[in-house]
Amino acid sequence: MIYEIRKARDIYHRQTDKHLLDFAEKHGRTLRPEIRPVLLDELEKRAIGQNISTKLEEETLLIREKDIRQLMQFVQNQACSKCGTKNTVIVCSVQRTIGSFVIQWIDEETTALCCLSCRKKEFILASSISLAIGWWSLAGLFKTPAALLQNVLFLVGDKSNQENIARYIIEHYLFYKALSQEKVL
Ligand SMILES: [Zn+2]
Repeated sequence: MIYEIRKARDIYHRQTDKHLLDFAEKHGRTLRPEIRPVLLDELEKRAIGQNISTKLEEETLLIREKDIRQLMQFVQNQACSKCGTKNTVIVCSVQRTIGSFVIQWIDEETTALCCLSCRKKEFILASSISLAIGWWSLAGLFKTPAALLQNVLFLVGDKSNQENIARYIIEHYLFYKALSQEKVL
């Protein structure tokens, strides 16, 4: 992937202004997400095509709410990503784990879309690790109760669950968009 980015940068660098502008106008929208910024960089460097860049940025980064809602429905028809169970309610598991090692600590959040029973397992795992090894540093003393509480709130809150699913889909937007299109075709 890095090689392709470098190659694209090299190619764009050699184009004339006119070619580059034409290319951005015609193909900018369909470029892969990791290549598009290379094109935008080159345009910016030359201080040309400001309106094309703005348009591209808006069109390609803006995820419409309608799309998110559709994908939220779509994920409900998917199997659990952890145990593979089908026809089950899919929820967002957000688990924060704290581990303390005297002067160092880890504060880690893991997220996944999965079934209720997998989320419960993840919750028990994260909470028991934090309970066992979260406390043993100064930061851990404060972080551990906060993390335990956060995990409980995410476990019981339906509103936060919907928000977490939406956030998860936005973070993995291209993946779910592609997956949903694959299923339709
Ligand atoms: Zn599951």
